[in-house]
Amino acid sequence: MNVQTRMPVVFVGHGSPMNAIEDNPWRRAWQHLGETIPRPRAVLCISAHWETRGVAVTSSAQPETIHDFYGFPRELFAVQYPAPGDPELAREISRRVGDSAVPVRTDDARGIDHGAWSVLCAMYPGADVPVLQLSLDSSQPGAWHYALARRLAFLRDEGVLVLGSGNIVHNLPLLGRYWNAQPPEWALRFRERVNALVAARDHAALCDWHALGPDAALAVPTPEHYLPLPYVLALQRDDDAIQTFNDDVFATLAMTSLLVSARN
Ligand code: ZN
Repeated sequence: MNVQTRMPVVFVGHGSPMNAIEDNPWRRAWQHLGETIPRPRAVLCISAHWETRGVAVTSSAQPETIHDFYGFPRELFAVQYPAPGDPELAREISRRVGDSAVPVRTDDARGIDHGAWSVLCAMYPGADVPVLQLSLDSSQPGAWHYALARRLAFLRDEGVLVLGSGNIVHNLPLLGRYWNAQPPEWALRFRERVNALVAARDHAALCDWHALGPDAALAVPTPEHYLPLPYVLALQRDDDAIQTFNDDVFATLAMTSLLVSARN
């Protein structure tokens, strides 16, 4: 395949599950993305909301919609996203990405969590693009994830969209304090720091976020929402363009998102 058919790679800040059903600029950007990037054969989502020991890929032919949250309105629990899976592709990923040191097991029981479907229901409302997820072993350091993600590179040339879904700033314990206020300075500073490092393509620094100082400790109190970012960075090629969108901080959540795509 040539450069024109190489699939982009996307990191999305997903924020609240309510973005699945509320009309807002973030969701509209997801809709626009689905309409403008090349239509994928399948989506492989790395979501903050699937953490495992070891690594797994979903292999169900018809994954269920998981409502993995509490305290939200009934209409959010009623959302179904009946996109098919792709067991054949799951087996290929297991075989080509896993090795004896880091096996990638298939999981035919696991469905699709809201980190995936809250975004995909806007991008592909027809639920007609097969969806798979790759789990996060969040006990592992950033560089480990980056190395694993490099092994997903072939998917871009085979029509598969790799979608990282998390938030580069994600502090739920402090969310209430800033709900109706300006976002805290540390959140804005960390978002700027990450954006500058992404622009400078300093992936080593981004994989070692703990070394980025006290702002990082507040922005990334637990790693699972940050970790989808190294997966997207690892798939960036030297000649790709990077576009930032939804670059907003709401309270203690950054919606900052990245579209990495081949230059035309
Ligand atoms: Zn989340």
